[in-house]
Amino acid sequence: MARRKVKPAADRAGQPFVVKNSRIAGRGGFATRAIETGERIIEYLGERVTHAVADARYDDYASATHHTFLFAVSRQTVIDAAVDGNDARFLNHSCDPNCEAVIERSRVFIVALKPIAKGEELVYDYAYTRDGSETEEEEYTLYGCRCGTKKCRGTILAPLTPAELKKRAAAAKKRHHPRHAVARTGHEG
Ligand SMILES: [Zn+2]
Repeated sequence: MARRKVKPAADRAGQPFVVKNSRIAGRGGFATRAIETGERIIEYLGERVTHAVADARYDDYASATHHTFLFAVSRQTVIDAAVDGNDARFLNHSCDPNCEAVIERSRVFIVALKPIAKGEELVYDYAYTRDGSETEEEEYTLYGCRCGTKKCRGTILAPLTPAELKKRAAAAKKRHHPRHAVARTGHEG
């Protein structure tokens, strides 16, 4: 039997981070060397399924905290890193990230947004897609963020677009006015 060659160090250094306990949540990825801006750190791998399959697999309302390894690649496809996933699934969310997820030809890569020092935790903005069914309460509970940065927006959901903000403000107005009116007539009557 022939001896098996060991890959040169340069190749093995392909994944420039280790997975260990994180202060943000559970486990996280920590740089094992300096990483340059724009460096491709790892591909987000897992089983490619349809949104319908992902929805059937995980029910948000069944669990107290939202915790899946789903990445929405397109309107058709979701990557479920719980199945055949790699270490990319352990990277945590931050509202003030040093990495970003870049989609290229339907593949997802985690890329450095800025120079990262050895030992730093690698984080990117999950910006969970909204489907409009999330209530304001869920935004900060089920999808709450505890990244602890000054820029924390309190949720791992994607920031609201100006149109969504307008819609929400209008809905809040509608909710509030009738409620006051009803209370008042109740007291008087
Ligand atoms: Zn945050």
